[in-house]
Amino acid sequence: MRISIFGLGYVGAVCAGCLSGRGHEVVGVDISAAKIDMINQGKSPIVEPGLGELLAEGVKTGRLRGTTNVTEAVLATELSMLCVGTPSKLNGDLELDYIEEVCRQMGSALRDKTERHTVVVRSTVLPGTVHNVVIPILEDFSGKKAGVDFGVAVNPEFLRESTAIKDYNFPPMTVIGELDKASGDALASIYAELDAPIVRKDIAVAEMIKYTCNVWHATKVTFANEIGNIAKAAGVDGREVMEVVCMDNKLNLSQYYMRPGFAFGGSCLPKDVSALSYRAHVWDIEAPLISSLMRSNAAQVQKAYNMIEKHGSRKVALLGLSFKAGTDDLRESPQLELAEMLIGKGFKLSIFDSNVEYARDHGANGHYIKNEIPHVSALLQSDLDKVVAEADIIVLGNADPRFEKLAKDVPAGKKIIDLVGFMPQRTAGAAEGICW
Ligand code: NAD
Repeated sequence: MRISIFGLGYVGAVCAGCLSGRGHEVVGVDISAAKIDMINQGKSPIVEPGLGELLAEGVKTGRLRGTTNVTEAVLATELSMLCVGTPSKLNGDLELDYIEEVCRQMGSALRDKTERHTVVVRSTVLPGTVHNVVIPILEDFSGKKAGVDFGVAVNPEFLRESTAIKDYNFPPMTVIGELDKASGDALASIYAELDAPIVRKDIAVAEMIKYTCNVWHATKVTFANEIGNIAKAAGVDGREVMEVVCMDNKLNLSQYYMRPGFAFGGSCLPKDVSALSYRAHVWDIEAPLISSLMRSNAAQVQKAYNMIEKHGSRKVALLGLSFKAGTDDLRESPQLELAEMLIGKGFKLSIFDSNVEYARDHGANGHYIKNEIPHVSALLQSDLDKVVAEADIIVLGNADPRFEKLAKDVPAGKKIIDLVGFMPQRTAGAAEGICW
């Protein structure tokens, strides 16, 4: 494919080298004439192992050249990748000046383009940027319609400096956010030869994936450092601990516990998080991430309460009282906490949880349920259909399979608040999920 790359910094130069190395015809564009000179001499403008050789080979074979002329580059190619910087402003927000400028130049160049062109954003931009900033500028300056006259896609870059060439050739996945199928197809054809799944999503989803990955990496580093600091105070080597923790890719490093939804609860997580945070405090160890977990968890319960309250009706049914389906354990249940908030605020609440109801009448937890939380016990009802029929707002509290159909087929006149995530995706007009 004929590809132009705008911005020949760490991302753009690597893309230029790797794409020309794989046989594409690449035109690199930068506002820095010095960088363009280096590219045209087959020299790398940055330090990156293996890149110099790729760029030299590209120039030698005639598959790679550099220019400062935007229009010429756009007219000569079928697809443009925007790799300009998106640095931080002083307040932390994203600086979009380079993106906006390159879009103005690109839009003007597209005005004269007859062949279909696809504009691909590789720079890291916050969700909504392409729809609210990139596309309007491109349309304004080209006088053409995105998705009709030219294509638009997002292709977040996941390379790590110093291993960038290897990361390009062996990615764990390729993420494409597409405005329309044709835009995604154009981009996907470039990556088809890589041995990695191509994940095609809406543009904003792809934009968010990139941030989620980087914030997750930052969270892992911070988490490991805090564990290391606390472990050291306890006379333990945190690296020894983390090595074993990371061996478990069924629970510790997997999608378990990684699905946005309701607060965590149960007999272990809140207790153990609290104990470690407390002990870190006693030992004078700063652990702001770990110490904030209980606060963040409480905010998720408050969020569920706010979602219920905003609907106005006081008639609420809570389906699922224990922290997960299939148990009667109410210790540290955030669902119980939510029930008590609703009771305290005078909602007309009914509760369905057959495990808890069974435990109250026949199990070992009966004494606790009847005597310690009689105000909750009194609201437990046996007939799911009746509970649903008598409420205006139905809160799906845990993943009891009997609740799933209510999320998928919302009963007429009812508002479903899904704390579990039964709906695979955000669905307009149906149940509202706590995180979707
Ligand atoms: P960089 O600052 O190294 O390079 C940006 C380049 O864009 C510079 O050479 C600059 O001269 C050029 N430029 C600015 N305005 C231009 C214009 N109008 N036309 C053409 N060129 C222009 O930036 P980078 O580190 O390559 O990062 C680029 C984007 O990729 C950022 O959004 C960054 O967050 C993201 N990203 C970076 C990395 C990384 O490891 N560096 C990894 C993944 C994603």
